[in-house]
Amino acid sequence: MKVGILGATGAVGQKFIRLLQNHPWFEIAAIGASHRSAGKKYIEAANWIEDVELPAYIAEMKVNSCDPASMQDVDFVFSGLDSTVAYEIEASFARAGIPVISNAKNYRMDPSVPLLVPEVNPDHIELIKTQTFTEDGSGWIVTNPNCVAVPLSLALKPIYDAFGIEAMIVTTMQAISGAGYPGVPSLDILGNVVPYISGEEDKIAPETQKLLGKLSNGSIKNPEYPVQATCTRVPTINGHMAAVTVKLSKKPAGIEAVKEAVLGFKNPIADLNLPFGPKDVIKLHDEERFPQPRLHADHENGMQLHMGRLRKAEVFDISFVCMAHNTIRGAAGGAILNAELLLKKGFLS
Ligand code: NAP
Repeated sequence: MKVGILGATGAVGQKFIRLLQNHPWFEIAAIGASHRSAGKKYIEAANWIEDVELPAYIAEMKVNSCDPASMQDVDFVFSGLDSTVAYEIEASFARAGIPVISNAKNYRMDPSVPLLVPEVNPDHIELIKTQTFTEDGSGWIVTNPNCVAVPLSLALKPIYDAFGIEAMIVTTMQAISGAGYPGVPSLDILGNVVPYISGEEDKIAPETQKLLGKLSNGSIKNPEYPVQATCTRVPTINGHMAAVTVKLSKKPAGIEAVKEAVLGFKNPIADLNLPFGPKDVIKLHDEERFPQPRLHADHENGMQLHMGRLRKAEVFDISFVCMAHNTIRGAAGGAILNAELLLKKGFLS
C-alpha cells in the first residue's frame, strides 16, 4: 500500500521513515510537513536525527504541504503532526476519504475514535464504523496512545483482567527523545531530573481507562479508578520507565498469582503474525536490577514491553516497573502495528 507521512520532518516522522524501510506491505509515497518545509527536498527541510543513513530516495523526495489535495496518491497516512495543527489537518484527510493513523493527542478521547494498542484492545477498531467523516466510511481516524500510556496499558492489561483495578500511583521516568527535537534544553536535563512534563500527567488516567474499556453496542465503557501520576523527564535517550503501585479489586492469593497472570498473558493477535508484532509481548524480568532503558528498550525491534520488580506492596497491593521504547512502541512502531492490524481486519484496502 502507498502511505503518506504527515509531520515527516519531526522526530516521530523520521522514525516512521526509518521503520518503514523494507516494510513488506507499506511503501512511502508522499511526505508532508509545515509551510516552512513544503516545496523543499526532504534533505533540505529535515534535520535527520536517526542514527542510520537517510534513504537516498527520501532525501530527494519533495516535501508536500499537509493537505489532502497534494497527497491524492496515497492509500492512507500516518500522522506525526504537532498537536497544535493535528486536529484540523487530520480531519481534512479523513473527510477526503484518506484514513489517518495518528500519534497526536487530539482525537484520542473522541468516543468514535479507537485509541489502539493491538495486543490490549484490538476489538476497539469496530468504533471506526461509528465515524462520520465520509458518507461511505472510507475516511476515518485511529490513534495510538501517549508514549507512557502504551507501556502502562500493556502491563496493566493482564493484571486488570485477572484482578481489576481500584486505584493506582504512577511515577514516570521519561526519556528525552519523548520531547521531540530539539526538545529539552541540554542545561535543563544533563545530570538532572525535571519533575514535571506539561500535559502528561492528565493523560494517564483517561487513556489507560479507555484502553482497558469494554466495547459494547458501538461505545466503550471505561473502568474508573483514581490515578496519582507524577511525570518526570530524566537524561535517558530512549525508553520511558514507570514505577507503578496498584490497588486491586480482587485480592490475589499471593504475588505468585500476579506473576502467573502476567506470564499467562494471551496475545489476542498472535495468530495474525503481524510484521511489527513482537513474539514475546511482555517480558517479565526476575533480576531486581532489570529492566533498564539502555539495555532493553531496543529488544524485539523496540516493540516489547518490559516489566520487573513485581512485588507485594506495603501501600496498596502490588508494585512493579514497566518500560518500553517511547518513539517505537510508544509512537511510530505502535502506529505501524495499528496499520498492520487494520489491514488484516479489512479496514484498509
Ligand atoms: P516535532 O519533532 O516537533 O515534529 C512536528 C512535525 O509537525 C514536524 O514535521 C513539523 O513540520 C510538523 N508541523 C508543525 N506545524 C505544522 C503545520 N502548521 N502544518 C503541517 N505540519 C506541521 O514533534 P514529534 O516529537 O515528532 O511529535 C509529533 C507528534 O507525535 C506530537 O503530536 C506528539 O505529541 C506525538 N508523540 C510524540 C512522541 C515522542 O516520543 N516524540 C510519542 C508519542 C506521540 P516542520 O518541520 O515543517 O515544522
